[in-house]
Amino acid sequence: MGGAVDLGKIFGVNVRIEVTVLLLAAFIVVGDFGRNGMSGLLDAVTFAILFIFCIYLHEMGHAFAGRLFGARTLDVTLTFFGGYARLVGIPRGWFPNAVISFGGPATNLLIATVLYWYAGTQEVPNDLISRLAFANLFLGVFNLLPGYPLDGGHIAAAVLSNFMPASRARVITGYIGVGVGILLIVLGLQSGMGGMFTMLVGLMLIMAASQEIQMNSRGRF
Ligand SMILES: [Zn+2]
Repeated sequence: MGGAVDLGKIFGVNVRIEVTVLLLAAFIVVGDFGRNGMSGLLDAVTFAILFIFCIYLHEMGHAFAGRLFGARTLDVTLTFFGGYARLVGIPRGWFPNAVISFGGPATNLLIATVLYWYAGTQEVPNDLISRLAFANLFLGVFNLLPGYPLDGGHIAAAVLSNFMPASRARVITGYIGVGVGILLIVLGLQSGMGGMFTMLVGLMLIMAASQEIQMNSRGRF
């Protein structure tokens, strides 16, 4: 969806930014603007930039974890829904898959820990740092929910594949993904205009998860 700007190699990994990421930034800024008015505009823009940078670090977490298993990252792309990293040469087996999927959320949880620790050492509380810490905690925890296409869904499918056929594991995490999507839409509906982005993410999850269920239900007798 939309064009992408190629930033070239950063830390050995190609970085691409889809134009739609501006829409994500706009959602964050507009949401903030309504809350804090004009004085909060600069803070909102700063927060949006740092938040999107943390999404980039999340993807680099996957790339770094991939490197531990000799996998190469073709590129990291930032999009409206966050981002994705394309890795090649991931060794077979559930363990590399689970660790590489965990690399992203683990990065956000690490950033949250460092920021909360830093906030604790400050005498005057810094609103930006606390918000960024919470946002990273949220990114880490949300992405660990065991539903496809979230990272936690990949981890759950990898672990479950030890006990059942991989396709059945994927159907299960697919249904959990649909459930998470429905939950997001319900939550979004309850929070008025600000819930629009939540609902869109919910819809995206439901579509991706339904596709995963269909693909893995086929050919079973
Ligand atoms: Zn991820």
